[in-house]
Amino acid sequence: MSRPTLGIIGGGQLGSLLSDAAKKIHVKTVILSDDINAPAKNFTDKFIYGSYGDQNVISEFINLVDLVTYEFENIPYDILKKIDEQKTVLPKPEINKLIQNRLTEKDFLNKNDIRTTRYVSIKDIEDIKINEKLIPGLLKTCTLGYDGKGQYKLNNLNDLNNNIDFTKEYILEKLINLKKEISVIVTRFGHQKYELYEPIENFHEDQILKYSKIPADISDAINKKSKEWATIIAEELEYIGTLCVEFFIDKNDNLYVNEVAPRVHNSGHLTINSHNISQFENHIRAVCGLEKIETKKIYNAKMINLIGEDISNYKGKNFKDNEFFFDYLKAEIKNKRKMGHLTIIEK
Ligand code: ADP
Ligand code: MG
Repeated sequence: MSRPTLGIIGGGQLGSLLSDAAKKIHVKTVILSDDINAPAKNFTDKFIYGSYGDQNVISEFINLVDLVTYEFENIPYDILKKIDEQKTVLPKPEINKLIQNRLTEKDFLNKNDIRTTRYVSIKDIEDIKINEKLIPGLLKTCTLGYDGKGQYKLNNLNDLNNNIDFTKEYILEKLINLKKEISVIVTRFGHQKYELYEPIENFHEDQILKYSKIPADISDAINKKSKEWATIIAEELEYIGTLCVEFFIDKNDNLYVNEVAPRVHNSGHLTINSHNISQFENHIRAVCGLEKIETKKIYNAKMINLIGEDISNYKGKNFKDNEFFFDYLKAEIKNKRKMGHLTIIEK
């Protein structure tokens, strides 16, 4: 089968790891990013820098590729839609539009009888006051949030302050008494055609993923239900590619979907070393219409995110043969930013 050239919008570490996986199966990548220092330019075959809203930049990009995917979800729908008129965009722009807004995302889940936290749409302070039953809760911007950004914790109504920018839309979400967080990554190739990874257990610090591990320490019932829900989500969306479903488990062992990422996911980085086919390679196989290979776990594993200055302790270090260090080659060390990761496999 001849190999297409894949365009990727976004130049962060997910773009880098997608490019790496593509190289392995002889798919060429072209990355488009609005960050001149995008780390993925160190990994891709060709890098284009420019604004996503610039028609000339988009044309240059489209002319070089056979199809397009994306590595972050905060791309305006209109831009993806325009690209899709000329070169196929996968996952479909409509899916990204639905998921990039926390309100439409949660409405979609509930419509499919998938449990989420209790939530309500918030337009102003009054909306919060009349929904006091959801406090303690989290006020989250409907769009553009990541790694806990755009979130305010409300312990009571006195926490409301004038710093909240109500030109944006929010949801107010009831705080859950968290026992654990897990994620399930699935790659859908077509109708009822999947590769599903086992649930991954995730540990957060300051709302940023700190480390992930397989196997997750969860009951068989939760293991089964989380995979079932992830599969329903992928099928209902008619999704093509890799997606990740993030779950909460509360102290009473109730399972909730927290959010869906229409892309490869940080918690799946360990699949590069733990499985025969990584989440990245499966994504590329699915969107490019390449062969679906039965995905199997080879090792249990743990992945540690190297955040901010953490990375300095690992650069140039000697690693054991079961340790895999990934340096995202970011131009500058930034506080609370993911700079690299370390995966340790259990041999
Ligand atoms: P982001 O888009 O920034 O990843 P999330 O909604 O996933 O936003 O929130 C980040 C983290 O904050 C979650 O992984 C979880 O640890 C915590 N969190 C978010 N919402 C809730 C909630 N309703 N109850 C308890 N913890 C929450
Ligand atoms: Mg999240």
